[in-house]
Amino acid sequence: MSAPHAPILPGATIGCLGGGQLGRMTALAARAMGYDFVTLDPDPDCSARPVATRTFTAKWNDVKAATELAALADVVTLEIEQIPRATLDAVAALKPLRPGADAVYLVQDRARQREWLAREGFPQGAFRTVVNAEECASAIAAQGPSIVKSAHGGYDGRGQARVREASEGAAAWTAVGGGCAVVEQFLDIKTELSVLVARRADGVAVVYPPSRNHHTHGVLTWAVTPSGASGEREREATALAQAIAERLGIVGLLAVELFVLHDGRLLVNELAPRPHNTYHHADRANATSQFEQLVRAVCGLPLGSTELVVPGAIHNLLGDLWVNGQAPDFAAALAVRGVRVHLYGKRESRPGRKMGHLSSVGATADEALARVCEAYAALIPKGP
Ligand code: ATP
Ligand code: MG
Repeated sequence: MSAPHAPILPGATIGCLGGGQLGRMTALAARAMGYDFVTLDPDPDCSARPVATRTFTAKWNDVKAATELAALADVVTLEIEQIPRATLDAVAALKPLRPGADAVYLVQDRARQREWLAREGFPQGAFRTVVNAEECASAIAAQGPSIVKSAHGGYDGRGQARVREASEGAAAWTAVGGGCAVVEQFLDIKTELSVLVARRADGVAVVYPPSRNHHTHGVLTWAVTPSGASGEREREATALAQAIAERLGIVGLLAVELFVLHDGRLLVNELAPRPHNTYHHADRANATSQFEQLVRAVCGLPLGSTELVVPGAIHNLLGDLWVNGQAPDFAAALAVRGVRVHLYGKRESRPGRKMGHLSSVGATADEALARVCEAYAALIPKGP
């Protein structure tokens, strides 16, 4: 019997629920360190497949397949939080599941997550949990302009409707799919930040310097570090993220998305218990990539330094850049000094689908950001 916190050393097998781009990049880091990597994803052509030792093609509620994955693994992590409780519990009954089922269950439902943040006293905007069209309309009447967000399954701004007045409540309720939703007051955002925390089972934790993020229509466009926020604001943001990770008992990674309002308040937007799109440049900007850090955290290894080595930025590449299935001219992006192209191996492009990202470093945050934006501009399809 090994000690409770004995490290899981290279040569062992890491299991991962989810084989999207986050699973793929975790697999690349794990393989580089000498681990085997097994994954499970409903898409037979998922991004992680070419990198994984073995891929199970199965639905999230396929407890049998998840059990088979767990049987092969020494530790199991995940890259997506929308996994049914029964699947999480079946895995956790066999092998260490990191982060644990309770934390994932709490985070995977937007209403549950917001109610928990409120109970714990973490700062967030005004919201109401609603379960029918009438409640949705009265929440809007009470709060004013709001965003109605489905409690389940939304990502990249999907399952959300922006409304100005109560008369739009019923249509918004239908648009987000009914069931259960959170009506969030529309906030006067000055800047968006995120903070990534890595934590081991024994409670040892490290935190990355905050990233500053820009979204368009609810989808991340670019992210840059250093954030440009004041030292005091950055300390406040990192302390908040660390406190949330601690309270949730996260083992692995926790990304905390934050809003800085024009009135100066710092509020929690949402939590993600996994690698996060706003830290994809950490492989260049920080001493340790978020994917290697996840491997270190779930395997109980010494956590890597999160020190900022050089300013860095990323720009997402959405399927909109592909015209009639034709990939953009990546050579044009690679011609920009400092820029790298990262692609997730997705064969099918769709508008809004995350196909890859550009990363760059620079002498300053502005320079790193300008470089990824210039490279991105070079990829935009020209008119007919
Ligand atoms: P992702 O998966 O990309 O994180 P998501 O679908 O979970 O996105 P949110 O993070 O809730 O969606 O929102 C996406 C973006 O929409 C935010 O980053 C912010 O730019 C904007 N947004 C969300 N909530 C609010 C709000 N209450 N007021 C103003 N803007 C908001
Ligand atoms: Mg978000």
